[in-house]
Amino acid sequence: TCGICVEKCPFDAIEIINLPSELDEDPVHRYGDNAFSLYGLPTPKPGNVTGILGPNGIGKSTAVHALAGEMVPNLGDHESEGDWERVLDRFRGTGLQNYLESLKEGEVTVARKPQYVDQIPNQFDGNTRELLERTDERGALDSLIDRLNIAPVMDQPIDSISGGELQRVAIAACLARDADFYFLDEITPYLDIGQRMVVARLIRELADDDTAERSMLVVEHDLAILDLLADTLHVAYGEPGAYGVITDPKSVRNGINEYLKGYLDNENMRIRPSAITFEEHAPRVSSRSETLIEYPELSKSYGDGEFELHVDGGEINRSEVLGVVGPNGIGKSTLAKLFAGSLEPDEGELDFALDISYKPQYIDIDQPMRVDAFLSSITDEFGSSYWNAEIAQPLQLDRVMEQNLSDLSGGERQRVAIAACLSEDADLYLLDEPSAHLDVEQRVRATTAIRRYAENHDATVMVIDHDIYMIDLLADRLMVFDGEPAERGHATPPQEMRDGMNEFLADLDITFRRDERTGRPRINKPGSQLDSSQKREGEYYYST
Ligand code: ADP
Ligand code: ADP
Ligand code: MG
Repeated sequence: TCGICVEKCPFDAIEIINLPSELDEDPVHRYGDNAFSLYGLPTPKPGNVTGILGPNGIGKSTAVHALAGEMVPNLGDHESEGDWERVLDRFRGTGLQNYLESLKEGEVTVARKPQYVDQIPNQFDGNTRELLERTDERGALDSLIDRLNIAPVMDQPIDSISGGELQRVAIAACLARDADFYFLDEITPYLDIGQRMVVARLIRELADDDTAERSMLVVEHDLAILDLLADTLHVAYGEPGAYGVITDPKSVRNGINEYLKGYLDNENMRIRPSAITFEEHAPRVSSRSETLIEYPELSKSYGDGEFELHVDGGEINRSEVLGVVGPNGIGKSTLAKLFAGSLEPDEGELDFALDISYKPQYIDIDQPMRVDAFLSSITDEFGSSYWNAEIAQPLQLDRVMEQNLSDLSGGERQRVAIAACLSEDADLYLLDEPSAHLDVEQRVRATTAIRRYAENHDATVMVIDHDIYMIDLLADRLMVFDGEPAERGHATPPQEMRDGMNEFLADLDITFRRDERTGRPRINKPGSQLDSSQKREGEYYYST
């Protein structure tokens, strides 16, 4: 197998044909001799949400610089910059002509949500209220603050709020503007499923608002949200750092399916040696096995009971993967810290003598040390063919081995942290939000690596994540959190997948169906026939 598919490839796509080398045609923009080149541009359309799906480093921001009018593309000839006439000639007769004409006349205003919200505190000194006040161009700010639940942090300094809060503030700041073109570079990092749905709805409403002609462009790696939100989709592919291609627009369903298949039909182009598959499986039913941990009812509170967590007593079985789901601010990471021993419960006692390997949600590995030195300090297996096959290759570590930990991007740091966690020799592996910052392909690879590792080592793994696909592919059983975020949380004992998914999704009022061609889970339109009938039957996820 190729390391991506969980099992056999259903698309007979193993044969490698015609992987893209750099294209013959002239690029839209090239930064310099032998520098990054971009082919193609996305097509913003008034009233539409246009999606882009593809890896990082492939020219999405470059394309947006061009569409925002901050840079005139040089059509590959960097001697002759700054000529909109040439660019217009190139795109005459295409869906971009009208847009580029307005841009040339200086008639396009742009609002943008940056990819890495963590960097906002470096650029803005002040509190949330001060940041947002300057953006209220449509008179919609109060409503955005309300629907994104930002009120609790209005008077907090920007450099003191959490990733999920920062993400919602950044999205509000973008959507509050009165612009023709809105560009949102990833909307889901750090957000839970309910928050993702709210953001998708807000973007949709702004596109549908017919008092203005607004074009929305969204880059996103959460396929369920992209699928729900976008009207059309551009697939992006290429060689990160070398060149990138943005395809003509496709229907969202075809675009996602072709991307997963690794083969673009219209372009007759293979973009990956093999398919990414979503194996449609009945919910796993856990087989009775030996108990690894039996834990009692636990409770933990912070401060003067500002937040209280109650955990029902339960058992974790040897060599199972236990999924953990629930909204943000409900106590999931607190529970991971209790199990990892870095926090003590107020009530109940955890006195198991087990070795635990723990990847925290916020990864703090900023030593001035190279990745290879760091990983070889964790395991003697480092560099063995077995370690390479099980950990380095699926997590694509070869390209980062010689880099310093402190120079890694969010996605690179995440993959190194997952590798470090799995490389420990432990009885229980705790992974807190491993999908954060990974693109679609990296998520599937990481999921496969974790699942295989658990199976090959009889390892017991606990995975907290908001990516429902990842949880479904990974978990044997599910622990579900509910309560009132930032006030009180409650965790159920581990339950069977079907029961757990139903309890979790009923709380969110979301049902899923399967795409007929790829088996990929899709969110049903609220109120659709499938949505209603599945809710009636109480089958929110495994409906077939
Ligand atoms: P994405 O948004 O898809 O992550 P970007 O458009 O930010 O990709 O970058 C694509 C490539 O272009 C990267 O390899 C980046 O290093 C390179 N690049 C970006 N800006 C410049 C620039 N001003 N000069 C030279 N190279 C650049
Ligand atoms: P989750 O992982 O489900 O998002 P957490 O366990 O991180 O939730 O946090 C639950 C609640 O406890 C949140 O309201 C958070 O702000 C609060 N909290 C977390 N850690 C601390 C702490 N060390 N001191 C005070 N409050 C905390
Ligand atoms: Mg957490």
